[in-house]
Amino acid sequence: MSAKDAPPPLPEPLPVAVADSHTHLDMQSGTVEEALTKAGLVGVETVVQVGCDLKGSHWAAETAARYANVHAAVALHPNEAPRIVLGDPGGEGPRQRGREAGGDAALDDALAEIDRLAALDHVKAVGETGLDHFRTGPEGRQAQERSFRAHIEIAKRHGKALVIHDREAHDDVLRVLAEEGAPERTVFHCYSGDADMARICAERGYYMSFAGNVTFKNAQPLRDALAVAPLELVLVETDAPFLTPAPYRGRPNAPYLVPITVRAMAAVRGVGEEAMATAIAENTARAFDY
Ligand SMILES: [Zn+2]
Ligand SMILES: [Zn+2]
Repeated sequence: MSAKDAPPPLPEPLPVAVADSHTHLDMQSGTVEEALTKAGLVGVETVVQVGCDLKGSHWAAETAARYANVHAAVALHPNEAPRIVLGDPGGEGPRQRGREAGGDAALDDALAEIDRLAALDHVKAVGETGLDHFRTGPEGRQAQERSFRAHIEIAKRHGKALVIHDREAHDDVLRVLAEEGAPERTVFHCYSGDADMARICAERGYYMSFAGNVTFKNAQPLRDALAVAPLELVLVETDAPFLTPAPYRGRPNAPYLVPITVRAMAAVRGVGEEAMATAIAENTARAFDY
């Protein structure tokens, strides 16, 4: 293992335990126990495990049933829904090309399964859902938006939080939420808007969850957004294995690295790390109702 692939060292523990509001343990190396133990050592005592497809959503629900400090979110990712409709489930490889299209019925079947999972007690959220104009091209837009609307309806019907994935689609995500009526608790995961959008989210009571990219040198707009977001709507996440905070950018991310991001966030807000961690802990419990 070269230094650039090695897991970063354990940061100093936080004075108040927080939750990683968005992680993908099933995409990280090591066992769930190892990840939770390591995170617990530095004051990251709770995680929200997020499913991106049917398999991942089942796994998230099962894992949350097994561990008291793991909560599940279930959904078809915004890039997964078009794959199901266009008949390319699970990949973009040439092996998949030419397969018979799954069509709208296949998406309906998959959504029905998400609906069943969303009813479970230890499933606290529906997501990640939303819109991704970066990875999904025009041919997948319709399926993506239909899936997003269906997830909003499922979240509302079950009284669960809604976890939004918004990649280069701010205006459309805000529009669809307004048209459908957002659930009472809506979280923008890996918040990527600017300060103006943060003001809109604040008005509508949407939570904004900041990931490791808030530490990146070129991320001043994100820090500006964090600076104006109401403290009671701010969450932290890793989105691990992605978005490892500086100075470990490019190395594998995991929930135990949350303290680095919390400290960077405290600096942006001009508050102590204890105050930041306390707010985040309360906000996450409120957002996901655990
Ligand atoms: Zn996402
Ligand atoms: Zn994610």
